[in-house]
Amino acid sequence: MILDKFRLDGKVAIVTGSNTGLGQGICRAYAEAGAKVVGVSRRPSTETAEMLGENFYNVIADLSDLKVVPSIIAQAVEKFGRVDILVNNAGIIKRCDSIDFTEEDWDSVLDVNLKTVFFLSQAVARRFLQQKSGGKIINIASMLSYQGGIRVPSYAASKSAVKGITMTLCNEWAKYGINVNAIAPGYMATNNTEQLRADGERSGDILARIPAGRWGQPEDLQGAAVFLASAASDYVNGFTLAVDGGWLAR
Ligand code: NAP
Repeated sequence: MILDKFRLDGKVAIVTGSNTGLGQGICRAYAEAGAKVVGVSRRPSTETAEMLGENFYNVIADLSDLKVVPSIIAQAVEKFGRVDILVNNAGIIKRCDSIDFTEEDWDSVLDVNLKTVFFLSQAVARRFLQQKSGGKIINIASMLSYQGGIRVPSYAASKSAVKGITMTLCNEWAKYGINVNAIAPGYMATNNTEQLRADGERSGDILARIPAGRWGQPEDLQGAAVFLASAASDYVNGFTLAVDGGWLAR
């Protein structure tokens, strides 16, 4: 039955940035679809743990440093026995005029949003090969994988690159039954856009451009996240799926 293909029963998912926002929404969706979820966060994912109960395990790790990568895989395997799905969701943004942008604001964003995304994907893909299982990798991209944005040069660079490596990794790993895809959220009401939503003029301009006429919510991403993690998307490879209320269509 087609709906059975969307189920994630028996699957184990690693989701980074599990304490809030889009990552928390994805953790909930995966647990509801039947998966065990290993949430990675630098602050404890207390609320998510309360929501998911025994289906959730929290690894505390700062993803700005690659040294945490082996321990994330090891803890997931120790707790739930295997890994089937990785969602590279954790990400940061720094807003400043490009003319004044600092090296620190450049490096800190690229480290979390791109470098760790690549090396965590590599570590998970090695695990998939060891398991002889195939698997699913889903990167969280952005509208700024397609557009330049304003005052966010390191973020735009990182998210354009996330779309790029999604295609690179697809080209190399699809033959192993590893699907690498991305989701590009539109303008979503989370901590990431707090500053933007607080700016009346920018916020009004953005809202006026969204065909759906509203900011997105974490729930809006859940369908795409389950689809790309499930057998229903086994022949979807290297694609960045926009969930944006029509923003890119304008
Ligand atoms: P958010 O509420 O700010 O969540 C970001 C998550 O990443 C938080 O869990 C955060 O943990 C975690 N994180 C950041 N740096 C980390 C680090 N060094 N180590 C471990 N975890 C770290 O924003 P969000 O909107 O849910 O963002 C999720 C993803 O969607 C990001 O990749 C973002 O770029 C992307 N995105 C968001 C939008 C939007 O409109 N909101 C649009 C397009 C793309 P802490 O809470 O501890 O900081």
